[in-house]
Amino acid sequence: MTIQAIDWRTETDVIVVGGGGAGLVSAINAHDHGAGVLILEKMDHVGGITILAGGGVKAAHDESLAIQYLTRTQGGRVGDALIATFARGLVELPDYVRGLARVNGAEVTVREGSHAGVYPFPGAETIYSISIGALPGFGGYDWVDTGKNLNGQRFFKVLFDNVLKRDIPVLTRSPVRSLITDGDGAVIGVWADLDGQRAAIRARKAVILASGGFEFNEKLKREYFEATPVYAMGNPGNTGDGILMAQKVGAALWHMWHFHGAYGFKFDDYEPAIRIAPGGARNPERPIPWIIVDQEARRFMNELHPAVQDTAARPLGFYDPDIPGTPRIPAYLIFDEDGRRLGRIANPLTAHPEHRYVWSEDNQAEVDRGWIRQYPSTAALADGQGWDPAALTATLDRWNRNVAARHDPDFKRPPGTIVPIATPPFYVVPVWPLLTNTQGGPEHDEQQRVLDPYGDPIPRLYAVGELGSFFGHLYLLGGNLSELVISGRIAGEAAAALESRP
Ligand SMILES: Cc1cc2nc3c(=O)[nH]c(=O)nc-3n(C[C@H](O)[C@H](O)[C@H](O)COP(=O)(O)OP(=O)(O)OC[C@H]3O[C@@H](n4cnc5c(N)ncnc54)[C@H](O)[C@@H]3O)c2cc1C
Repeated sequence: MTIQAIDWRTETDVIVVGGGGAGLVSAINAHDHGAGVLILEKMDHVGGITILAGGGVKAAHDESLAIQYLTRTQGGRVGDALIATFARGLVELPDYVRGLARVNGAEVTVREGSHAGVYPFPGAETIYSISIGALPGFGGYDWVDTGKNLNGQRFFKVLFDNVLKRDIPVLTRSPVRSLITDGDGAVIGVWADLDGQRAAIRARKAVILASGGFEFNEKLKREYFEATPVYAMGNPGNTGDGILMAQKVGAALWHMWHFHGAYGFKFDDYEPAIRIAPGGARNPERPIPWIIVDQEARRFMNELHPAVQDTAARPLGFYDPDIPGTPRIPAYLIFDEDGRRLGRIANPLTAHPEHRYVWSEDNQAEVDRGWIRQYPSTAALADGQGWDPAALTATLDRWNRNVAARHDPDFKRPPGTIVPIATPPFYVVPVWPLLTNTQGGPEHDEQQRVLDPYGDPIPRLYAVGELGSFFGHLYLLGGNLSELVISGRIAGEAAAALESRP
């Protein structure tokens, strides 16, 4: 179809694709720099996975120290200009968020010296965290379930209240299907489904892709991740649409291999995967009742999955062509009766109301429904699992000796987390690689302009948030929320500054 033949349903200056955090910040900034904006969201509700976040947002005191730190963690996979821009963004972030928080009186909490998920590299001392603390009168959105942790919901509410205050239009149930370009390859609008009908929407200035990651796109995960399957939690709307749209207009992709995650559960009768509890930052003092063994009943990892391990090495993904296969997918989590009573082992989080599930505090309901298998003895456990009983006994004996010595020489699990596994009955659950979010997508420059494979910007197209994230080597725990603020600010302002097309 020629451009002249397009029957535009409506038009605006800047179209934002996706109503998660990155989309909202982009829209706020495009609006504040004088542009008309429209947010199109695929799902029934805005929020994406931003609303599920633990809510830690990393910031930095000193730009040059942050550059030092990020240069090391980015491992040569992103350019210096982008690192410098991100470092400046980390320094400016707290004041910017405080400005937004005035909309509803939310408290911005600062945690100095919070080094969870920060590597011991030069410059690390400048990193700290903020989060949205008290937010008077807000008990959480009614369509999501994040348990007792409302940090991510509060963070999102600060952004969304700013959108509402500015009267920025938001259309939910309005998936964008593709980008529309002119004869020079510039992006001039989108095809979207509005009220169930395909409609062309014109963007006089630009389109900002803020459609999140590909957590729920099985084909892309199979294509780009070595481990398979990698199950997802979160927002089923995150199917990598922005990646496909950007590819179709010539974008280069980057960081597709890189995801943030740990391990968790996947049951046939419940659609999303379920993250273990605790889920995010590591706590070396909190007892964890389980060990994890491979398909031969051998332990192989530090079960306190630090963010460090999330990014750098994913022990479950180990592949041995001589076996052949993946002897740790699934792996098995084992604990005993005392462990069962220590607290719930899982933490379901979902942005989809139909998936709401509250895990029992003592794990008994999940034993009763068959998700957790129970055995009266270790011999019965080995038999039920098809394991060599001697191998299981050797694993448990060694573990219990290590616990008694308060030292895990095998995988260096912190002493504060280790407990014996000796009191019957015994329990076992399969565990799988699990991701909270992906980082890959269209490559962008320091202005968030989407680049083609030759490094040239695709005119009038921007990407923000975890869609083509800055993080392409080692992750900075709390960095995705920082990124959605930093990238959204930049793209919103840059898009608004463009000349309108006639
Ligand atoms: C449980 C959990 C905890 C986390 N905790 C933290 C944390 O504490 N700190 C941190 O920094 N990060 C955390 N993260 C990661 C962080 O939340 C995300 O990386 C970040 O919020 C992504 O923001 P986004 O706006 O890019 O994507 P999203 O928030 O996912 O938004 C993308 C939106 O685009 C929509 N969309 C998709 N396709 C289309 C389409 N075709 N048309 C229109 N709309 C579309 C989606 O439905 C979605 O609403 C966590 C993630 C999870 C799952």
